[in-house]
Amino acid sequence: MQFKVHSIQNCIQRVISLLDSEASRLGHSIRFDDHPEPVYILMDQDKILQLLLNLIKNALEAMPDQGLVHIRLLSKNNQATFEIADTGKGIPETELDKIFVPFYTTKDSGTGLGLSICHKIVQDHQGTMEVESVLDKGTKFIITIPTASPDH
Ligand code: ADP
Ligand code: MG
Repeated sequence: MQFKVHSIQNCIQRVISLLDSEASRLGHSIRFDDHPEPVYILMDQDKILQLLLNLIKNALEAMPDQGLVHIRLLSKNNQATFEIADTGKGIPETELDKIFVPFYTTKDSGTGLGLSICHKIVQDHQGTMEVESVLDKGTKFIITIPTASPDH
């Protein structure tokens, strides 16, 4: 892996630009609440882009019409936390412990690999990932990764 210091804001913006037209095509929107200061992470940038892409794509696919993907970035105590919340169908409590298992999918043409790859990427960045979900209301993935100084 290729670890360098990058701004997480820049990664989030790039993935939003990539997915914005697909979101509008599906009738959804994506909102980003940024942190007021730059937030840097020692990262393999391609992996962090893949992490964000997988999570936001899942969010877009989980929502009926007029959904909102709400991304929030917070930074405190040398930790960056980013949340990806959707207004989708939610995940039943009995399924919550299965979603990170490779090949678990509820989609006709899903691979079931996205979240297991996300989990590995977060671990490789010394981070944690949590999920909160309410059936028929939505799902929130919360990722916390240590921050780095920009001149690392
Ligand atoms: P895939 O997207 O190919 O199905 P993933 O590993 O990305 O594989 O996701 C596994 C399963 O977890 C999905 O099939 C879906 O049932 C559930 N899931 C993931 N993200 C969400 C979400 N944001 N809302 C509801 N269910 C989700
Ligand atoms: Mg997926």
